[in-house]
Amino acid sequence: MAAAGVVKTYGAGDGAVTALRGVSAAFTRGRFTAIMGPSGSGKSTFLHCLAGLDTVTSGTVALGEVDLTALSRTRLTELRRERLGFVFQSFNLLPMLTAEENIRLTGRLGNRRADRAWFDTIVDALGLRERLSHRPSELSGGQQQRVAVARALLTRPEVLFADEPTGNLDSRSGAEVLGFLRRAVDAYRQTVIMVTHDPGAAAHADRVLFLADGTIVDELTAPTIDAVHARMRRMEG
Ligand code: ADP
Repeated sequence: MAAAGVVKTYGAGDGAVTALRGVSAAFTRGRFTAIMGPSGSGKSTFLHCLAGLDTVTSGTVALGEVDLTALSRTRLTELRRERLGFVFQSFNLLPMLTAEENIRLTGRLGNRRADRAWFDTIVDALGLRERLSHRPSELSGGQQQRVAVARALLTRPEVLFADEPTGNLDSRSGAEVLGFLRRAVDAYRQTVIMVTHDPGAAAHADRVLFLADGTIVDELTAPTIDAVHARMRRMEG
C-alpha cells in the first residue's frame, strides 16, 4: 500500500482547511506502522484517505495495482469490504448481535464463506471462545475490542487499519489488543496501520511516522517507548 503526494483540503474559500499537504509513504506487507503527531496534525485524515473512507483532493493511494482514488464509490465500497479491515476507538459492534454474529458480520455481508479453521484460530488467539454467545453489553471494553479485531481479521484483509484502537481501554486491555495485533503481524504477515497518540502503543509497531501540520516530519524504525517520547518532545519543542 502506498500514498503519493496526498493533499486533503476540507471546505473551500476562506474557510478551507488543508489537513494533508502532500504526504507520501509506502507500507510494506507484513509490517506494523504507527502514525503519531500532535492533535490536528492530520493523522485521522491520513488514515481515512489510505483506507478509502475519505476522498483525497489530489495525489494517489495505491493498494497493489489499484489506485483507490480512481475508483467509483461502489467499487471502493467493494474493495474496502473484500481487501481491508478496520478497528475503531469506539469498537462499532452491533448491540443486538452476539460476539460470534458480530465477528461473522462482515463475511456474511460480503457473501464470503467464512473459513471455520481461520475463525477458530482467531477466536482462540484472542481468547474469545467463552464469550461467543455474549452481547457487547455483557463484555468488557477489552473484550469488545478483541471482538472488533476478530471481525476485522476474519476476511484476511490485506491491510488492517486501526484508529486509536486502545483509546477507550485501560492499559492492561490495551496491551492485550496491541499484543494480538503484533502477533498477527509476526505470525500471519498481517499489514497493520495504526493511528495512536500513545507512545506505549506505538512501541508495538515496526515503524512510527510522525505527522505535523499535514506533512510527515520524522520516522522511527524499531521504536522504543523512550525513543518515541524523545521524538515527540523534540517536535513539541
Ligand atoms: P488528528 O487526527 O491528527 O488530530 P485530523 O486529521 O483529525 O488530525 O485533522 C487535521 C485538520 O483537518 C484539523 O485542522 C482539523 O480541524 C481538520 N479537519 C478534519 N476533519 C475535518 C472535516 N471533516 N471538516 C473540516 N476540517 C476537518
